[in-house]
Amino acid sequence: MSGSSFLSETLSRVKPSATIAISDKARELREAGVDVIGLSAGEPDFDTPDNIKQAAVEAINRGETKYTAVNGITELKEAICDKFKRDNDLSYTQDQCFVAPGGKPVIYDALMATLNPGDEVIIPAPYWVSYPDMVRLAGGTSVIIEAKAEDGFKLQPETLEAAITDKTKWFIFNSPSNPSGAAYTADELKKLTDVLVRYPDVWILTDDMYEHLVYDNFTFATPAQVEPSLYVRTLTMNGVSKAYAMTGWRIGYCAGPVQLIKAMTKIQSQSTSNPSSISQWAAVEALNGPQDYIAERNAVFKTRRDMVVDMLNQAEGIECLTPEGAFYVYPSCSGCIGKSTPGGQVIENDETFATALLEAEGVAVVHGAAFGLSPHFRISYATSDENLKEACTRIQRFCASLKK
Ligand code: PLP
Repeated sequence: MSGSSFLSETLSRVKPSATIAISDKARELREAGVDVIGLSAGEPDFDTPDNIKQAAVEAINRGETKYTAVNGITELKEAICDKFKRDNDLSYTQDQCFVAPGGKPVIYDALMATLNPGDEVIIPAPYWVSYPDMVRLAGGTSVIIEAKAEDGFKLQPETLEAAITDKTKWFIFNSPSNPSGAAYTADELKKLTDVLVRYPDVWILTDDMYEHLVYDNFTFATPAQVEPSLYVRTLTMNGVSKAYAMTGWRIGYCAGPVQLIKAMTKIQSQSTSNPSSISQWAAVEALNGPQDYIAERNAVFKTRRDMVVDMLNQAEGIECLTPEGAFYVYPSCSGCIGKSTPGGQVIENDETFATALLEAEGVAVVHGAAFGLSPHFRISYATSDENLKEACTRIQRFCASLKK
């Protein structure tokens, strides 16, 4: 390879995923013998349920090991239509459904299939790290707007309206949110859909990946359900990765207007082709099979969330809201900014906070700048109670060691 000219210009505009980078750094330190607690992973620590594993084994034994239709097997699309009807009161036909190797490629394919240079995509911050980079890869322009901590990290309708221009193609919506855990009630969401109704050229890409991970009897809502007139320009995306602890199986799905689904299928036909046949059969069982372990696991997540929020709020300089869903909290470290570590390192921002915390106490968190909203950091509580307790104790000790 002769210098950087071999690589594409597009690549130079894209950052590697910050969350994966922190997980890698934590793994490196651990391999070097450092006692590291990783709170950066975005996946449940639970195993895939046995009935789902069994369905995959049966699929292998039946010989379901060949190429499938590019955008998914009929049985899975049928299960997806049933799921949308059952959980979201949304009616889709199979030709409106699309299955991909994970939720990530669903979003990527949708953006690749629709964006032209100059097209704008509105993304509320804090956002999932991949949205802006995927928009960039697809040749579009991200318009980042703030969902402030003082509003519980929920986007306000006037902020959304002010960001809409005649170039806006998509509004990306994510509830419950990665990284803040904030989830919108139907009433809160209606205030946003009331704005979107007035702008018929703006499409809605709703990332409902964490739909089932909500606590305290919270009722999940999605845009096309809250405002049926948006159905014709909404892509409702979801997946089995988080709710069914199937991150490694790589199955995501969506439903939306047929023309868009056809365009996305064209992209997938020339990139990955169909998602794994075996994983698709496992996903059929995930969606059609018993759902009771979701509530059981959520009870565990809720207890962890409450413990983490409580312990973080006892750390000097940290303030942490109690989010409605996902398995993340997004505390502010603004009370630590400007202070110094015992070794004399000044905490200038959330990135230096996260680095100093990892070096001093071996706790890996992701700095808020990676999600577009500082001064915060993200903690994933999808790890054991012991790990969380120890990590929060270390964070308290680290914060207490900082001096003005
Ligand atoms: N959307 C959000 C908000 C996520 O947090 C993630 C995974 O971290 C995804 C989509 C992608 O999920 P998958 O692993 O199925 O590609």
